[in-house]
Amino acid sequence: MVKICCIGAGYVGGPTMAVMALKCPEIEVVVVDISEPRINAWNSDRLPIYEPGLEDVVKQCRGKNLFFSTDVEKHVFESDIVFVSVNTPTKTQGLGAGKAADLTYWESAARMIADVSKSSKIVVEKSTVPVRTAEAIEKILTHNSKGIEFQILSNPEFLAEGTAIKDLYNPDRVLIGGRDTAAGQKAIKALRDVYAHWVPVEQIICTNLWSAELSKLAANAFLAQRISSVNAMSALCEATGADVTQVAHAVGTDTRIGPKFLNASVGFGGSCFQKDILNLIYICECNGLPEAANYWKQVVKVNDYQKIRFANRVVSSMFNTVSGKKIAILGFAFKKDTGDTRETPAIDVCNRLVADKAKLSIYDPQVLEEQIRRDLSMARFDWDHPVPLQQIKAEGISEQVNVVSDAYEATKDAHGLCVLTEWDEFKSLDFKKIFDNMQKPAFVFDGRNVVDAVKLREIGFIVYSIGKPLDS
Ligand code: NAD
Repeated sequence: MVKICCIGAGYVGGPTMAVMALKCPEIEVVVVDISEPRINAWNSDRLPIYEPGLEDVVKQCRGKNLFFSTDVEKHVFESDIVFVSVNTPTKTQGLGAGKAADLTYWESAARMIADVSKSSKIVVEKSTVPVRTAEAIEKILTHNSKGIEFQILSNPEFLAEGTAIKDLYNPDRVLIGGRDTAAGQKAIKALRDVYAHWVPVEQIICTNLWSAELSKLAANAFLAQRISSVNAMSALCEATGADVTQVAHAVGTDTRIGPKFLNASVGFGGSCFQKDILNLIYICECNGLPEAANYWKQVVKVNDYQKIRFANRVVSSMFNTVSGKKIAILGFAFKKDTGDTRETPAIDVCNRLVADKAKLSIYDPQVLEEQIRRDLSMARFDWDHPVPLQQIKAEGISEQVNVVSDAYEATKDAHGLCVLTEWDEFKSLDFKKIFDNMQKPAFVFDGRNVVDAVKLREIGFIVYSIGKPLDS
């Protein structure tokens, strides 16, 4: 029986391996992590991450051919294929701080693999890493391996949080990069055979290592660039009376452009887009390509600008001050159907409003109160240095921020309401009831274009929707 182990039981490692175990019942899959609470949660009824459909997949295979363990070394030792799906955040200090990927976790995983292995293994880069990371990993492994042979593959993950299970069942493609040697090609085939259990072979793309590594960064940069393009357009729409939804539809029906990922919003978030673009910028700079770096920098700058513009609009609409005013924040996660708040635009918007002395009442269906408090106390929007956003310690979070358990409580007596995540339940709220319980004039600031602005205006709200003509 082939044994697969995945180091890192996070948003990628957990769902990816659960689906792999489900689709390959003859393969034993063990997901390992150094975090005991995370592994305990994977072994419990309350999984550590919220993802539609995940619980069902885990329940079907856990204890049969899917296991979660903190015994990292034992399972790496026993496995034929070792995926590494550890976090690769942006470096916070030293060379490349603020841009380069921090590969500390990867390096320590690679050293451990070399240390414990007594038989040859395929080591798979599942994490998103800078192009040519495999070269560094090969060095670490071969210099520490006592003659054992390792083949490194790049197999970046393209799932999107919120639709991870669907994406894993039906991926647009699976990408596998490897060395152009007999051993490299054999390793590619071994991994392709695993995916071929459920992915049509014509959708499994095999490339060299560097193309696979760079393709992941490129894919995220292109996706984020589309969001920044439509968001830049949304600002122009507001200034000219055009409607960004109509413009996006007109533009997106061009088959060369396509309709997806053209929703204007308060900005993109999540742990990947910004981090991966910053990483790309750093790689361009290291390769002496400043103009290529500048192109991608602009994508991040427009995203920061969009968050600032939104927060600005809230303050300016409410007679230039939100001091002492209650503002309801509906949605804190970076997108719907996830509890993930990493880099969520809500952090910057909320911190801006807190800095202006607003009283926030926050509701999100999936994000826990302590997570919201932690996020808001770590990053504080610095109005004097808006781009890049400054990471400084927050004051006033405890007095000014209230986290509540439903949208009606959040909006009671509020002067304004901001929709920051596109949760489906926000579309079907009883806005008449909300209006009746709010201060007047009652403002709605829709950062996701999810509410029916026409209906809300009929009720009496003053509505601002991203990229839409004001109060039309
Ligand atoms: P995560 O932070 O949720 O999970 C990473 C896990 O790795 C953590 O639980 C951590 O404890 C564990 N870990 C770190 N070092 C370890 C070690 N030495 N041994 C064992 N466990 C260790 O991160 P994530 O969101 O799952 O992302 C993982 C990688 O996948 C990142 O490179 C990310 O860029 C990439 N990625 C993420 C997404 C996404 O939507 N989250 C999508 C595609 C790719």
